[in-house]
Amino acid sequence: MGRQDFFDHGDLVAVLTTQPLDRLLDYKAPEGGCHLGAFVEVPLGPRKVLGVVCAPGRGDFDRSKIRPVIRVLDVAPMREEMQIFLERAAEYTLTPLPAMLRLATRAPGLGDPPSMRKVYRPGDSVPDRMTDARRRVLATLQEYGGLSFTLKELSDAAGVTPSVVKGLVKQGAVHEEDSPRDVPFPLLDEERASKALTADQAAAAEHLRRGIRSGTYGTTLLRGITGSGKTEVYLEAVAECFRQRQQALVLLPEIALSAEFIARVQERFGAKPAEWHSGVTITERRRTWKMVGQGGAQLVVGARSALFLPFLDLGLIVVDEEHDTSYKQEDGALYNARDMAVLRASICGAQVVLASATPSLESWANAEAGKYAKLELTSRFGDSALPDMCAVDMRGADLPSNRWISSRLAGAVRERIERGEQSLLFLNRRGYAPVTICRACGHQIGCDHCDARMVEHRFLKRLVCHQCGETRPIPDACPACGAEDRLAPVGPGVERLQEEASELFPDARIATLSSDLFGSARALKARIAEIAEGGADIVIGTQLVAKGHNFPLLTLVGVIDADLGLQGSDLRAAERTFQLMRQVSGRAGRADRPGEALLQTYQPEHPVIRAILAGDEDSFWRAEAEERRHAGVPPFGRMAGIILSSPDMQEAFDTGAELARNEAPLRCIGAQVFGPAPAPVARIRGRHRVRLLVKAPKGAALQKALAAWIAQVKPGPNLRLTVDIDPQSFY
Ligand code: ADP
Ligand code: ZN
Repeated sequence: MGRQDFFDHGDLVAVLTTQPLDRLLDYKAPEGGCHLGAFVEVPLGPRKVLGVVCAPGRGDFDRSKIRPVIRVLDVAPMREEMQIFLERAAEYTLTPLPAMLRLATRAPGLGDPPSMRKVYRPGDSVPDRMTDARRRVLATLQEYGGLSFTLKELSDAAGVTPSVVKGLVKQGAVHEEDSPRDVPFPLLDEERASKALTADQAAAAEHLRRGIRSGTYGTTLLRGITGSGKTEVYLEAVAECFRQRQQALVLLPEIALSAEFIARVQERFGAKPAEWHSGVTITERRRTWKMVGQGGAQLVVGARSALFLPFLDLGLIVVDEEHDTSYKQEDGALYNARDMAVLRASICGAQVVLASATPSLESWANAEAGKYAKLELTSRFGDSALPDMCAVDMRGADLPSNRWISSRLAGAVRERIERGEQSLLFLNRRGYAPVTICRACGHQIGCDHCDARMVEHRFLKRLVCHQCGETRPIPDACPACGAEDRLAPVGPGVERLQEEASELFPDARIATLSSDLFGSARALKARIAEIAEGGADIVIGTQLVAKGHNFPLLTLVGVIDADLGLQGSDLRAAERTFQLMRQVSGRAGRADRPGEALLQTYQPEHPVIRAILAGDEDSFWRAEAEERRHAGVPPFGRMAGIILSSPDMQEAFDTGAELARNEAPLRCIGAQVFGPAPAPVARIRGRHRVRLLVKAPKGAALQKALAAWIAQVKPGPNLRLTVDIDPQSFY
């Protein structure tokens, strides 16, 4: 390669730091030298910061002023593949490289010496007095033939209190020693018996295994309705990866799903994988980060940022529920984990599996175009079919105001209660009511910092802004006209729906699942497990329940407002509604019980609603693809959103107008600029937001042109400019 890969003491090295600087900094290699890619601590002004040795130093300034690297961290150096990935990802998303490096080092204390913990193994002497408890401890140690335990593991396994173990340590009968905490993850055994696959599952699994064995890059769209066995199939690809002594990464859209998935990994491979998401402790994150780099973790299950872990030899990335919008990081670095998975795999020669019941139009189009392989699982395992789907025409439902459950839906719920089955009432709106209005003056209570209405959360007894999170107590009097007791909630949220359901079904056990009602991911997981086992008759939920939880007793899904997603100007509104409705209805009737889905709608003849009811996915995708092709929008054209935000509205607009005037770099590639216009949410957290939209033909070198275009303006200190390549939502 001709890369210089080791630097002797005193050689100049160029270091990329995690600090927001636009260039590499030169340092002197420390005593003992350092490798290319070494993670190092370097001085920056008065501080010590984390960095990576990226290249030989340029030496273009006074050598005597160049400071030495403080120390080389005791972790595996960054591999070339990772460095290329970060650079390409930075280019693609127009994110500064230091921000990419921060993503790749999100394990606090990486440089600390490995933390230690006490472990216990058999000692050499016999205790002076033998008790039953002591005997159990010694027997447990013996049974595992010299394995070491933590205090808790040992006392739990022996069924004694920790003080019994401590007593034996004093006597020398048990040996206590320090051992590093960052130990490898238990081995996963790919040769344990797997489930007998159906014919089309087996064919799909074989296709994926062949891909892994090829040792080259490839992406496969694995499509199949919920319950068709996609997970079962891609676990076979994971197994093949292990056989090739390679590592695998499975991305899930929601941490609450990971418990169920980890149980399945344990069942298939006999041990738990490493986890990487916001619910994992810092110690455990550090362990995962290090072990991934040393080959001490075969499988990582995680959220999107797991893509930036330093895998030693990655053979497979699975993106489960690939259409899920949470794969798009909407703060900090704006990247779509699905696209970055494909990028990373193409650099390191790995396979990607995109699994979904309702793929994104992008992936569907890529598969149609032959860029991705396509695998289809057609039937549900155990032959339970997709539920019957019907529209309930709300124009004829004649509901009193402040009621949202039609009599048809109520009747269907009642039948389920009688049969001991579960119903899901789906409404994608958190809180009690989306709007609070004053009946005296018509004032709607809004957030002081955002252009958004405050949403009443009766459970918390507060009004909450869903944009910025600001909360305040529910006032007694109207903040505009001062009238007392005239404030009224308008429209339904899940909390209000729960109230209605309790009135309609006074004896039913009702559980409401909404992300804001649970203090922690753990509490939510526990509640979901309880419900799955029959702990509720009616589940009321937001989007949260659409995502792959298994409720075997659920046979009815009632969609309270199927039209909700069709409002708004979002490019992907139709696609989202289609996916969400299909997913939610996919919750019904998994375990051999036929399901039914009722969609309440005021526009049953809307093409999207009709496509959902007909279950004719391919014609829906084709029609949707045709529309977007005409409009020249993704995936048939390229788009970028530019958001300018500032406390000063004029500044944001002026900068936007200046950009719009100087669009020559964009015109060169045939791109057009629209705007500036107020963003759909024109103010968030007190910052005014102005949006420009750039549309370019497919295949245009959009990023380069954008970079040149943006470089022309010099924003003031208060102005923030964010570029969003392939925007998922326009807010
Ligand atoms: P998907 O990922 O497509 O939703 P899963 O892989 O989760 O589907 O399968 C749905 C359920 O059916 C799971 O409980 C799974 O264990 C079971 N299942 C799927 N295929 C088989 C099979 N061949 N043998 C036994 N159980 C299966
Ligand atoms: Zn707000």
